[in-house]
Amino acid sequence: MATQTDYYALLGVARSATDEQIRSAYRKLARQYHPDVNSASDASERFKAITEAYEVLTDPQRRQRYDMFGSTTGGLGDFGIGDLFETFFGGDLRRREPRGPMRGADLRMEIEIDLIDAVQGRERVITVPRLETCERCHGNGAEPGTSTSTCATCNGRGEVRQVQQSVFGRFVNVSTCPRCGGAGKTVDKQCTRCRGEGRERKDREIGLSIPAGIDDGQQLRVAGEGEAGMRGGPTGDLYVLIRLKEHALFRREGDDLVHLARLSPAQAALGDEIGVPTIEGPEAKVRVPAGAQHGQMVRVRGKGVPHLGGSGRGDQLVYLDVVIPRTLTKEERRLYGQLRDMEGPTSQDGDSQDFFGRMKDAMGGG
Ligand SMILES: [Zn+2]
Ligand SMILES: [Zn+2]
Repeated sequence: MATQTDYYALLGVARSATDEQIRSAYRKLARQYHPDVNSASDASERFKAITEAYEVLTDPQRRQRYDMFGSTTGGLGDFGIGDLFETFFGGDLRRREPRGPMRGADLRMEIEIDLIDAVQGRERVITVPRLETCERCHGNGAEPGTSTSTCATCNGRGEVRQVQQSVFGRFVNVSTCPRCGGAGKTVDKQCTRCRGEGRERKDREIGLSIPAGIDDGQQLRVAGEGEAGMRGGPTGDLYVLIRLKEHALFRREGDDLVHLARLSPAQAALGDEIGVPTIEGPEAKVRVPAGAQHGQMVRVRGKGVPHLGGSGRGDQLVYLDVVIPRTLTKEERRLYGQLRDMEGPTSQDGDSQDFFGRMKDAMGGG
C-alpha cells in the first residue's frame, strides 16, 4: 500500500474536488502529456497514470471505493486512448482508406419464358435498365474539351489530413477528400450529360442465351453486364432469374413432361393407338394396351426436356384419362344397352379396399 498511487495528487486536486474540477485538471494535464504532443520518454506513462486517475475519480462507485480503501479492486487494464478521445470529442481516429476504383453493382432481374424455349434453348434480347459509363465524358466526369486537374484540396491523394486542435494538443485526422470524393482529381467543368457522376442511366438491350433444359427458378449469370464501375473499376454482373410460364398441355416434372390423354371406355377396353401432341410439334403415336385403366401412365421415351448441360432428355409421361360420355347418340345408346345386357350385373367381387386403391392410383397419377 505504500506505493499506492495517489490519484488526487496525480491530478493536483483536493480530495473534495468536484467532478468538474477533476475534469478540468485532467484536461490541463492531458494536454501536457499526451504522447502525440509530448515526446518525453515518460510522457506516455504519465498520461496513462493521469487518465487512470481521471477514470477512477469520475466514476462515483470507484471513487468511493478508492476513498475508503485507497485502491480500486481490479486493474484498469489497457484502455485505448482512442476510445477516450472519442468519448471526449466524438471524433474518429480510424484511418479511412482512400477510395480507389469501385466495382459496379451486380444487377438482378427476372424473365418469363415459354416451355418451348426451355426445351429448345433460345437467344433472347432483354432490356436492362442500368448505370453505364457516360458516353460524353467516358467516365471521368469532365465536359469534353475541358481538363481535369489534380485536386487542390488533397493534392491528388484522395484523402485529407485535418489537424485538430484539442485539449490533448494537435491531432491528425485522415478522411476521404470531400472535394474530389477520393478520386484525387477535380474537373474544371462538369460533364453536362452526367453532371460529373461519370455514369448515366440507360436502358440497354442485351442478348441473353437461354440454354436448353433450363428450369423455373434457375439463374443465369451474364458476366460484365451489370452496372459500370467507377474511377476505372470493373463492371458488375447481371443475374437473370428464369420463370417458366405454364403450358396448356404439358406440366414439367424435372425433365419429364406430363400430358393427359383422353380415352373413351371403348378405347380403354379394346386398346388403341392414339396420337398425342409433343412439345416440339409432331404427334407421337402411343400404344394404349387393351384393358387400360383410368390414370394409367404410358411413357413416350425422349420426348421430354433435354438435360441441362448434358446429353439425353426426359420422357413424356402420358396419363390416360378415361372419360365416360355424358350424352349418347341414339345408336350409341343402343350399343351401350346391348353391352350392359350382355355383361349382366356388375361384378361385386372386388372389395372396397381395392376400389380405394385404384382411386388413389388414378388420382396420384401412378
Ligand atoms: Zn459524363
Ligand atoms: Zn481531393
